[in-house]
Amino acid sequence: MKSCPPLFPDRSQATGYGVNPLDRLSERRDDPAFVDALMRAPESRMALIVRDTPVLRRLSGERWDCLFTLEAARALGDLREVALLGRTDERAFFAALLDDSQVVAEESDGARRLRLPGREDVALIDLRTIAMGGLVEAPAIGLLGQAKSLLYWHLRHRFCSVCGQPSELAAAGWRRECPACQALHFPRTDPVVIMLAVDGERCLLGRQPRFNKGMYSALAGFLEPGETIEAAVRREIREEAGVSVGRVHYIASQPWPFPSSLMIGCLAEALTTTIVVEPSELEDARWFSREEVVAMLEARHPGGLKPSNPLAIAHHLMRAWVELT
Ligand SMILES: [Zn+2]
Repeated sequence: MKSCPPLFPDRSQATGYGVNPLDRLSERRDDPAFVDALMRAPESRMALIVRDTPVLRRLSGERWDCLFTLEAARALGDLREVALLGRTDERAFFAALLDDSQVVAEESDGARRLRLPGREDVALIDLRTIAMGGLVEAPAIGLLGQAKSLLYWHLRHRFCSVCGQPSELAAAGWRRECPACQALHFPRTDPVVIMLAVDGERCLLGRQPRFNKGMYSALAGFLEPGETIEAAVRREIREEAGVSVGRVHYIASQPWPFPSSLMIGCLAEALTTTIVVEPSELEDARWFSREEVVAMLEARHPGGLKPSNPLAIAHHLMRAWVELT
């Protein structure tokens, strides 16, 4: 088959949480004997999540690993929902919700931290901190994002949304079933459109009040039922900045496990240029020249303005736009 030349490089792989090497084995999830055999295999490994926080084990100093043998995982406490994440050529990977009854919460430096008493060899560290600090390798960050999104869904969906009875885990963690009414429930992924409106040599960036000082980023919003990606992009830019856009071009996507979004990154061609900021959404929005965005990406903007972090797809949308010829 003749292959189609790529219009754009695959930028999804460059985003935080975007690298995940696992074969998800989706066709084998309903085969309990197959899944049990992987559970018993000594080379299999397990990621652990407490509530929505990954458990890391200290290798040495500030070197960490997020994977446990199944024996070591069970030694940390009761494993509640267990899910098969997938397999590489070497081994299978599972994830489990660790029972949180042993966990204590502590306040220090204004932050709330979780701890497992008596286990100084493990730490409960939120996924943003793990990713920002590069505490584990990129493929492991993708795997942790997969584990966190899936297990947090189990944690928050223990009852059938049709009849209210307790539901049960099935399909190696990829489905819940209701024994009372037989309804099937599947893990959710919430699509979010994130985009730059482009007017020739300018692109539209905005800032929310919660952003770090000087940071400008792409506009974003949830895609709604019955809406296309293109329609959501047009609606969000119009609602937040009062700008109308026409053609929409898909660039890249990013799993965003907070708790379970998929960011769909686009560029959109502006039809109008007058900005009317919606103050409930944005503190400011304006057009940025290509030179200004390049200066932001190279950390030499004369006004100290900054792009979003390279972990976020918004950063890669800005790069995609400045690299367009
Ligand atoms: Zn039910």
